[in-house]
Amino acid sequence: MRENAFLRYCLLLLIVLPIGFLWLYPQVLRCMLVSRSADFRLLTGADAVYVSHTATIKQQTQLRRHTATAIDRIRRFWGGRCGQAILIYCPTQADYQQYCAGGEGAGCSVGTPWGTSYLVLGPDGNNADVIAHELCHDELFTRLGWWRVKRQIPQWFNEGLALMVDYRFSNPSAWEQPDSSLRNIPFTREKTIIPFPQRPMLKLVDLETTRDFFGGDYIHTMLAYQTATEEVARWLSVAGRAGVPELTNALTNGDGFSETYRRLEQDKRRSKR
Ligand SMILES: [Zn+2]
Repeated sequence: MRENAFLRYCLLLLIVLPIGFLWLYPQVLRCMLVSRSADFRLLTGADAVYVSHTATIKQQTQLRRHTATAIDRIRRFWGGRCGQAILIYCPTQADYQQYCAGGEGAGCSVGTPWGTSYLVLGPDGNNADVIAHELCHDELFTRLGWWRVKRQIPQWFNEGLALMVDYRFSNPSAWEQPDSSLRNIPFTREKTIIPFPQRPMLKLVDLETTRDFFGGDYIHTMLAYQTATEEVARWLSVAGRAGVPELTNALTNGDGFSETYRRLEQDKRRSKR
């Protein structure tokens, strides 16, 4: 009898939890139903990209090109692509707010605990840098899973990694050129499309959670981006591009983030001596 009651509770939880999740995050439900929406259609010549009917022919052509550039960048950075996110392009702010909570920024990633993920691009998101940035978040999410990313990955690393393929905030030389280990200029002193504020940087320990990272004003977020960019570019210059998949492989095998992050850098330094 007791076993029956327990099973009933479990069954009830299995039904209530996803419904509660979708009720709390209605934009996730809209993303899930985008293929049935009369306002969106599949972009021809691209895989799993939905565009609003309001997108012009020119915007669709640009989106096709920018998506291909971004996917190529992700493949080269990660040494292959595992992510299968569905892209949703909203050229108007009104549509964007329906699919991305708050409607801030140029794009946002919507990941679900059951594995499906969506990249929503707003009016300023039809851009190779924005798409590569969001695809990089998706790649980490796919390789590690929602739970591991939430529990183990500090936000500064998640953002710092995405900023490496987002050339609005970083310089391709951080990983695109093989001699990047010879760099001695501090990364963010270089010219970037969006300039960083000239203020003392933040501490990594103060940028562990999403709230730490994005909870302040615009200047705080820019400083958080700067700190994350500087640290991940520094680490990449030692650990190398191969260090990124090595790190995620170690985490899926049960290793901790901090120890692995340090170990990969130390191993590389030792091997160079
Ligand atoms: Zn990001």
